[in-house]
Amino acid sequence: MVDIEGIIIDLDGTIYRGNTPLPFASEFVNNLRKIGMKILFLTNNSQRTVLYYKHKLNKMGIKAEENEILTSAKATAIYIKEHYGSPWVFPIGEDGLLTELTKHNIPITYDWEMASLLCVGYDTNVTYYKLKQAALLLENGGIFLACNPDKTLPSEEGNIPGNGAQLAFLKAATGREPYIIGKPHMPIVKEALSILNTSAEKTLIVGDRYDTDILTGFRANLKTALVLTGATLEKDIKNKKKPDFIARNLEELWIKLSR
Ligand SMILES: [Mg+2]
Repeated sequence: MVDIEGIIIDLDGTIYRGNTPLPFASEFVNNLRKIGMKILFLTNNSQRTVLYYKHKLNKMGIKAEENEILTSAKATAIYIKEHYGSPWVFPIGEDGLLTELTKHNIPITYDWEMASLLCVGYDTNVTYYKLKQAALLLENGGIFLACNPDKTLPSEEGNIPGNGAQLAFLKAATGREPYIIGKPHMPIVKEALSILNTSAEKTLIVGDRYDTDILTGFRANLKTALVLTGATLEKDIKNKKKPDFIARNLEELWIKLSR
């Protein structure tokens, strides 16, 4: 087996696509468990709760505990707690973000004059009014955090605006740049390693997106594995720095890892 103690596994495009598990996904996770590997499922999506992902994985026959799942929303709440304590937060986001802020005893307000920190996650109910309030908070020196930078996300209708598009609106209106917690930025990786309690060199990140998952791995000095079941195809990385492992799917990756 490759010399690793922990593994960070991306979800969409790696473990499943939409609501369909990818081939060998449950076997891959079960095999890792059998050899005592520490596992952390990591998603940049801040919309859904950790519990939602636990149930989603469980339904696919993949055992996962809540403490083995890190969303960008959870990572953001942890970051706020560690760096700012319990400031009044103005959130743009859905269940995933609101639940984590509440769980971490971080008070929420929709009154920008009361808030000191703006936290932006993907929000399908976002309104001009909410964005205006957020912009006023930024104009008045509020701290600007973002769960993730993804400009678009794939859907059945095609690529649709993601959190990065909301951030672009606020950047255009205020000239302010957010501090981003999710991949390919480092705060979420630091938290992932702290949860796994492993060193970077002994941790593998597995994902389907070269410019987020693999880039994150390079930046953080993790071992890297690209699976070709999602966003990035082999031809996309022709002239780029190669990850430690490239596999057509999780079965091939398991074979390569267990050599
Ligand atoms: Mg993915």
